[in-house]
This record gives sequence, C-alpha cells and structure tokens, in this order.
Amino acid sequence: MSAAPYPDRPVLVAGAGVSGVAVTEVLLRLGAQVTVTDRAPSARTEALAALGARISTGLGEVPPGIDQVVTSPGWRPDHPLLLDAAGRGIEVIGDVELAWRLRESPAGRPPAPWLAVTGTNGKTTTVEMLAGMLRAAGYRAVAAGNIGLPLVRAVCDPEPYEVLAVELSSFQLHWSSTVAPVAAAILNLAPDHLDWHGSMAAYAADKAKVLAPGTLAVHNADDAWSRRLAAGRAGAGFTLGPPAAGQLGVARGALLDRAFGEGEFATVGDLPVVGPHNVANALAAAALAFSYGVPSGAVSAGLAGFRTGPHRNAAVRSVGGITYVDDSKATNPHAAAASLGAYDRVVWIAGGLLKGADVDDLVAGAAPRLAGVVLLGADRAVLGAALARHAPDVPVVEVHRADHGAMSDAVAAASLLARRGDVVLLAPAAASMDMFTDYAARGAAFADAVHALGEG
Ligand code: ADP
Repeated sequence: MSAAPYPDRPVLVAGAGVSGVAVTEVLLRLGAQVTVTDRAPSARTEALAALGARISTGLGEVPPGIDQVVTSPGWRPDHPLLLDAAGRGIEVIGDVELAWRLRESPAGRPPAPWLAVTGTNGKTTTVEMLAGMLRAAGYRAVAAGNIGLPLVRAVCDPEPYEVLAVELSSFQLHWSSTVAPVAAAILNLAPDHLDWHGSMAAYAADKAKVLAPGTLAVHNADDAWSRRLAAGRAGAGFTLGPPAAGQLGVARGALLDRAFGEGEFATVGDLPVVGPHNVANALAAAALAFSYGVPSGAVSAGLAGFRTGPHRNAAVRSVGGITYVDDSKATNPHAAAASLGAYDRVVWIAGGLLKGADVDDLVAGAAPRLAGVVLLGADRAVLGAALARHAPDVPVVEVHRADHGAMSDAVAAASLLARRGDVVLLAPAAASMDMFTDYAARGAAFADAVHALGEG
C-alpha cells in the first residue's frame, strides 16, 4: 500500500510515547490531520502540538470524523477509547502495521524486506546480532521496532535501508494484520504479560502473527511453544544440541549450520556473550541471516563484533574474587532462569513486580546453584515462599525498605553471603516499577552500589 491515503486524512494517535511521537511526526509529514490523545499533557504533546497536531488528552471516545486510530503498542485492547473504536467499526492499527503500509521507498525502489524476531526473551540481543551480520555483509541495515528506533522512522528514512532487522513485541503484533516478514524467528515462549493478553493462548496467538503466509519460519527446537507455532511451516530450527538436518545447533563447542549448507560458523568459546541462552540467540540470528543469503564469513564477523547491551548479563566489577553481574533486564521468570543457568554458584538478588507469574519452576531449577538469595521489592514474599519450598537450606535475606537505598542494602547483604569464585547476580525475575522508573534505573542502582563497595 502506498502513502497516498494519508494527505488530509483525519487520524487519531493514541499515546504519545516513543512510538506515538514517531507516528505523529511521520503522519504530519504525509499531510494527515493528526489528533493525539494521551493520559495528560506533557512536554511530548506540547512538541507535537507545535508541529501541527491537535492534542486532546484523556479521550474515552473517538472524536467525530476520525477514520483510523494508530495506537501505541502498550495500550490494552480494553481501553475505553479502543473499545469505542472497535464498536464503531473504526480501524485500529499499531505503529508496526502503519510502518508496513508506508514502506514503499519514495525513490520507487522495492521496499526493504523485514527479517523479524519475536519471543518472550532474547529479542533485542538477537536483533542486534542480526543487524551486525547484515552490515558485515555490506547491506545498509539497521535494527528497528521494539528496540529504540521506531519502525515508522526506519521505513521513512530519507536514505532507504536495504533490509531491516525487526524486533516485534507481542503487543505490536496484536495490533498488526498485514505485516509479512521474509523470515521470522520465534525464540521462545513463556508466561509474560498475561495480564495484558488475558491468557497464554492469546499471548501465543499474537506471537504467531509474525509468521505470515510465505514467511520463512525459524523456530527453537528446544522450546515447545516455538515448535508448535512453527509446525508445518517451511524454514529452519535451532537447538543447543547437535543439529539434525534442517537445523542449526552446537556440537563439540562449534556452532553448526545444517539447514542452509554453511557448516561451522563460530565457536561457543569465541562468542562475546555468556550463557547458553545467548548461544541460542546467536543461532537464531544466524538462521535468519543465512536465510537471507548472508555468507558465513559475515555471520561470523557479525557475532564477533557483537557487544552485550546494558543490563543484560553485564559484568559490573569483581571485588575480592566475587563477580557482580547486572541482568536487570531479566524481568520475568523465564529470563531469570536462563540467566542463573549461565553461572555455577550464584548469590541471587531477585524481586520486584511478578505480574502474576509463577516462580516455582524457576526456584526449583535454580536451587542447586544458589549460594544465597537476597530478596527485595513488592512481590518478594512470593519468591520467599517458593524458596522455602524448593531450597530450604539456602540462606535468604529480605530487604524491607523500598527506597533507593534498598539496592545498596541488597548488594551489601549479597557480598556477605558470597565467597571467592561466586557470582552475585541481579536477575530479578520481575518488573522494576514498584521501586524504580524502569529496569535500566534498577541496573544503574545495582552498579552504583557495587562500585561503592570497598576493594575487598
Ligand atoms: P528482550 O528484548 O526479548 O527483552 P533481551 O535480549 O533484551 O530480550 O534479553 C532480556 C533478558 O532475557 C536478558 O537479560 C536475559 O536475562 C534473558 N534472555 C536473553 N536471551 C534469552 C533466551 N534466548 N532465553 C531465555 N532468556 C533469555
């Protein structure tokens, strides 16, 4: 579809967050009459007003004349405004769907294909690895989507990209309908955001939308949900075990491709990341790159040049033989389980908002590696009860305060529980908003507290 429908078209943008701002700017540039609504006025809504958008905060109904709503991904489908739109037959799309519809290049070149990544955990890491591989192959490529650079900006860049490495969240997929990546990976699926989606089945159904008819499917052969969603689709699998034909996998420390005929393309020891979960991410990125025809040398170079993003299993410092690792981005139990599995003996700092997630499997699986646990945050009692059930001999310290000093107390308590050779790991298994603005602020508080420790 071309950009033609937008001049003078009355469109309502719901939400003035990162994607809402990008959507509004792009629609205004296309000549649309844009109304923006958000909970309250802000510096962002003021800036959009200055660009020509009409601002109408707190809307519960779609104003007369509007014939399309572009919603921010985080807005729940049961928001009164979106219910009103649905009830009146007004189309509601998300920023990703809009980007897909706008992707024809102004210069008339064929639009950049999308190589997409979704899953509960590992999306950002995989997409950045993939973007590095594509660039190493000489493509003008960028990582975009749920990753900082909104897709509407990437597809409207005045200097068109040749291919996009696209991170898609379940929310973004929920609000998409015609998006059709050339290839897409479903990394894994575990309960998360169920308060938003309503059920695991609904969450999985939204994730499955990344596979359009004709999309080559990359699935995780070690993950039941990923296997199920890709069943019967053309594509490739990946596994942490030796690969069967049609798969990428690991044998004798080497990453091997038996799906696209490339053979060995890296070794586990050379990957600049820790943990089996990151090996899985590397395999998924390589599968997408190979499916697009990226040569083995560029895949290897992309992996070698990859640098772990902040707050993702990032070593902060070693003090007295104890290494302090910040995985504040482990915001759900599935991520924390992967994170804990990367180290042999761990003093674990956990807790926050569990979003209704169950932690029994996580705690039971981690128990053998735990040298001690420090709990903080709103749902710490849920974790405490699971530890009492599954790891009754592991010492547990609870931090009761909830101000910013809590993280200093947690780090101090963890350092007393640890001995030389241990890892003190912040992998909360929970969201951060009970105590911090976001996971980055939580990780920064951890790093500050670690730097404030003496020299041991
Ligand atoms: P996302 O973008 O999906 O949130 P990230 O790459 O930012 O994923 O990683 C978030 C966290 O998820 C990491 O800090 C780590 O704890 C965990 N993680 C990363 N990759 C995986 C994986 N393949 N399986 C399970 N957990 C993972």
